[in-house]
Amino acid sequence: MGSQSPLPSVTTKTVPGPAPSGMGNGLFATTDIKVGEDVVHAAVPFVAVLDTPRLDDTCSACFGKRQMEAGTELKACTGCRVVKYCDRTCQSKDWKFAHSLECSIFQRLKPQVLPNNARALLRMVLRTSKGKYTTQELGIFTNLETHIQEIQEVQAHLDRINLTSKAVKNYSETDMTQEAIMAYAARLDLNSFNLTTAMYDRIGLYLHPYAALINHSCDYNAVVGFDGEELYVKAMRPIKKNEQIFISYIDTTTPNEVRRKELSERYFFDCQCTKCAKGTDTPEDQFTETPEDMSILEIAEKQALELMQQASTSNGKPEEEIKKLESAMRILKQTSKWPLTRQPYASLRDQLIISLLSVNNFSKAFLHAAIRYLRIDPVLYSHAHPIRHLHAWILAKLAIYLSQQGFESNSKEAALIQESGLNFHYILWYILADLASRQLESCTVPSFRRLVAANFAQVHNEFKANGMDPSTSKSIVSAEWKKLEKLVQVALDNE
Ligand SMILES: [Zn+2]
Ligand SMILES: [Zn+2]
Ligand SMILES: [Zn+2]
Repeated sequence: MGSQSPLPSVTTKTVPGPAPSGMGNGLFATTDIKVGEDVVHAAVPFVAVLDTPRLDDTCSACFGKRQMEAGTELKACTGCRVVKYCDRTCQSKDWKFAHSLECSIFQRLKPQVLPNNARALLRMVLRTSKGKYTTQELGIFTNLETHIQEIQEVQAHLDRINLTSKAVKNYSETDMTQEAIMAYAARLDLNSFNLTTAMYDRIGLYLHPYAALINHSCDYNAVVGFDGEELYVKAMRPIKKNEQIFISYIDTTTPNEVRRKELSERYFFDCQCTKCAKGTDTPEDQFTETPEDMSILEIAEKQALELMQQASTSNGKPEEEIKKLESAMRILKQTSKWPLTRQPYASLRDQLIISLLSVNNFSKAFLHAAIRYLRIDPVLYSHAHPIRHLHAWILAKLAIYLSQQGFESNSKEAALIQESGLNFHYILWYILADLASRQLESCTVPSFRRLVAANFAQVHNEFKANGMDPSTSKSIVSAEWKKLEKLVQVALDNE
């Protein structure tokens, strides 16, 4: 590939170097990179662990990748019964990588299960003590920032890191000093990514010291994704040789003030990116008209955020969650100045779609997913952004479901969809065809791409079996598309 690699498990088109404006080190392109191409690929993590609730339903070795393909039933490790695996292949892989070092500790701690960050720290400390990391890997890792100074100024943060480090020192019986373990914990806090499935569901924590060199920008040019234990950093925009690579550490669809607060509190820096330089002059901060009285909007936002918070804590009661989310959205809508794309409006709808799916309310979920696809995502995310592809995929799946299973009775939303006369077959064909055709210029990972390609092929073949080919009947498809646009408008008017 012509790309020199800093570590055997890493393939990259970048090289580390000093970054301007006090950002420490960063990664820089060694060649021009096209949209959708790999900027960094890491085959093996430095450390990756599942969130505690995921230990039960996700394989601790392949992180659900093989489950997605084969749907295997997981078996618990017979030693600790804390971690689960697809089969012997996954089990022995993780045993060799790290589990042999931690299994007896997990057994001793039962019934307590360590939280994700403590499990990650324990793994790193054990692997370091047993000489399982290469000198190069450890070298890059120990050069990462700790921000220990800043951490010491926030008592709660310091206490947390202290406590975890002490516990890990105890359990691991390592020779490493408490101080060294604390530095590990601080680096983990600052540099870990959300580990996700190929479908972008969060499942745990992931750290790779080389990928951790990538700086943040709210106006980023690359996106992180995972396929099993493999990390992909893909170009979201064309990147020129010598240009710095940027990813986003946070949700950058939020207004300026929210972003900057999160970056300074969690990552200890004052964001100097081009988007932040525009202040409140970006779509993320705009209202549909200049408000005469900001306080009305501030009150509405506060109420909406409170309801959103209540919804997220109404554990296991999706009906209640749906009510709270819908009233929060109504409050924002009633201000008549709150764009659909301004947060927290868009996040409320995302959350609502998840809740609706959990209670099998597919018609309503379809309408919200269609609103998101047509009216929100084109503003919030560029074409190559994986979130945009994921949302399109969810809409296609809902269309497939409704076309096969039909509509719920006694549902206002089902009636609305039926009145529109929408032909789901053409809509889902179009969404999948569009997704499939743009995969190479997207930041999605291989398993996601395979799933989309397979589903599109299936749908297309069903049309062909019936003697039809939507790719040659553009006028029919575009007429159906107009119906969908009209339906979305009616649904919005009804909200
Ligand atoms: Zn597995
Ligand atoms: Zn075990
Ligand atoms: Zn910024």
